[in-house]
Amino acid sequence: MISIRHLSKTFHNPDGSTLTVLKDVNCDIEKGEVISIIGPSGTGKSTLLRAINMLEPPTAGEIWFNGENIMAHGYPLNKMRQKMGMVFQSFNLFEHKTVLENITYAPMELLKMSERVAKDEAMELLRKVGMAQKADVYPSSLSGGQKQRVAIARSLAMHPDVILFDEPTSALDPTMVGEVLSVIRQLAKSGLTMLIVTHEMRFARDVSTRIFFMNDGIIYEDGTPEQIFEHPVHSATKAFVNRIQKLKYDIDSDNFDFLQIHTEINRFCIKYNITGKEELAYSLLKEMLFTHMRSLRPLTFRLTHTELSGVTALDFMVEGLNESPLKDAARESVRRQVKELIEEPTTRGFRIKLII
Ligand code: ADP
Ligand code: MG
Repeated sequence: MISIRHLSKTFHNPDGSTLTVLKDVNCDIEKGEVISIIGPSGTGKSTLLRAINMLEPPTAGEIWFNGENIMAHGYPLNKMRQKMGMVFQSFNLFEHKTVLENITYAPMELLKMSERVAKDEAMELLRKVGMAQKADVYPSSLSGGQKQRVAIARSLAMHPDVILFDEPTSALDPTMVGEVLSVIRQLAKSGLTMLIVTHEMRFARDVSTRIFFMNDGIIYEDGTPEQIFEHPVHSATKAFVNRIQKLKYDIDSDNFDFLQIHTEINRFCIKYNITGKEELAYSLLKEMLFTHMRSLRPLTFRLTHTELSGVTALDFMVEGLNESPLKDAARESVRRQVKELIEEPTTRGFRIKLII
């Protein structure tokens, strides 16, 4: 469906400097594939999507779409864009049109669909994304997650061959990420071809037929989710997919702001989809700080989570300590609540690590 050959993009900045963002991108995308594009920020993922639908005209290379070279001079880009939908981070809905009008507008205007057919199809799509009850409201009254679901329905209304998603959940409050991802999951099952730039690693692993790891302006590694996440060839891929999310606190005295820590643990757990562990993390933190390690200040507390493996850990580090502060009874109490308890000397002190 899409073939990309030696695609490059260089930006010319006003100060005369240049920045080559896409260096030599090559790939073939078949009908029905669901491809997640992952990689560090600033590596050209958005630029690639925008180049594919010519919102950002490439500097050199070729893009073939359904057998036609869309970079050919004079190629009708509007025709191509009707078949290639795009969903943005920031929704881009028409604020002065109702939800229903947002969806029926392009099919009536561009596909010359009758109002009745366009409305029937729009209602069907709204039902599909769980938004039928909001058909007559204006976007300003919707949450971010609801807006994004409408934006997806609007894109589907054009009967596209492929939809490009540019971080569809990254502008959303963490509590709304799930509803948007589940709509995309459902589309993946239906066989729609999709290219999805995302930071949601587990989602990418579950939903995709193939993963592109972008790094430094090229598709650095390309493979099935299993290849990329379990057996990456390159060390940069491995480091990226196994990266660890962290929350860190230096606790110097007992006057620290415990409410703030609580709030941040709550946010962290929502963000990484581990709300089931929140209560345990919080109660273990209290037990360690106020009982077993009460006299040990300063100490550094870290909450870490490896998205891909699902491993969550609380770790307590005290400098200058050379043996475990845990008494037998304390050790027993903690061990009963965790998957693993690790007590280990470090170069500068002693660490207790609880895997939950
Ligand atoms: P990603 O989506 O992977 O985070 P982007 O494709 O947005 O990366 O950006 C890649 C690089 O290109 C960044 O350094 C960004 O600043 C630069 N860039 C993106 N768009 C433009 C532009 N219109 N003009 C100049 N530089 C740009
Ligand atoms: Mg981007």
